[in-house]
Amino acid sequence: MSRFFSEKYSALEVYTPGEQPKDMQYVKLNTNESPFPPSPKAREYAAKAAENLQLYCDPTCAKLTESFAEVYGIGTDEVLFTNGSDDALNFAFMAFCDDDHPAAFADITYGFYPVFAALNRIPFTEIPLKEDFTINADDYIGINKTVFIANPNAPTGIALPLCEIERILLSNPDNVVIVDEAYVDFGAQSAVSLIRQYNNLLVTQTFSKSRSLAGGRLGMAIANKKLIQDLNTIKYSTNPYNVNSMTQAAGIGTLTDEAYTQKNCKTIIENRAYLTAQLEKLGFVHTDSLTNFVFAKHPSFDGKKLYGSLKERGVLVRHFTKERIKDYNRITVGTKAQIDILLKNIQEILEESI
Ligand code: PMP
Repeated sequence: MSRFFSEKYSALEVYTPGEQPKDMQYVKLNTNESPFPPSPKAREYAAKAAENLQLYCDPTCAKLTESFAEVYGIGTDEVLFTNGSDDALNFAFMAFCDDDHPAAFADITYGFYPVFAALNRIPFTEIPLKEDFTINADDYIGINKTVFIANPNAPTGIALPLCEIERILLSNPDNVVIVDEAYVDFGAQSAVSLIRQYNNLLVTQTFSKSRSLAGGRLGMAIANKKLIQDLNTIKYSTNPYNVNSMTQAAGIGTLTDEAYTQKNCKTIIENRAYLTAQLEKLGFVHTDSLTNFVFAKHPSFDGKKLYGSLKERGVLVRHFTKERIKDYNRITVGTKAQIDILLKNIQEILEESI
């Protein structure tokens, strides 16, 4: 730290992104990326946009917004595109939290929430998940805080039914409830249909997972137009050009090819069933995931050791050190071929330990 670094950030504990190692070719099942390339349309549109990179991108993302609004059946003023959904989440912390509106989220959830809260100097409460890692909606009833719920949750993969989200929304009319739907396209119910019913609902989604654009950084916030206006106030006070022109074009390309996204999601859901069934045969227990990852532990094999042994063998999964979940690993659902390599290695590691 330099002697110039502002004291207000000196104690900041930064978010640790999943490893992106370059030392060898890994079977990469650690950061919940799609194993499939972006749609050919996305690549074609992005390449065309690259021809005009001397110009600033459209800060309003007008064409992308129109395409999205049409596909999702919402108004163009009910969505805001951002640099990944992380950007939208940060905006939401900035716009809707302060000393009078502290944040509340689960103790086991997306690790960026406490970092965004600390960055923006927002007090926050971490609400323990139940023993089985499900959210107890009762804990959020009338909580009178700005609520962040990843639905499905990460890294557990467990989804909260929409009726429980509605109970939380109804009981906190003076606070915004942010539903982070980064993984919603793999089988869970989206709250987007409720944005006109609840003026305190803000949904975030991403093109990083189901639409294979993690490297493009495209996310969005979806809500009634007043909440979107508030986020725009933050955006235009920080970086109006937060979504570059190639990414805007790639997003439009993706939206013209919804069949491709749906086909990939269907494959991931099938592969998830295959992976969980095979892990069960190897003695693992896992949560009931509705995402593109599986959260699993072996009753007699240390989680961190399994992560390390797999890495040595060229297979990357994600291990978290937090006490409650340190026995688990989060495994991204890859292609069938990737899953078979993972399973073969796990089997060998388990056999060697006997
Ligand atoms: N929410 C959750 C729960 C996530 O796991 C992630 C991915 N790390 C994000 C949001 C952010 O994803 P992105 O910024 O790529 O849209």
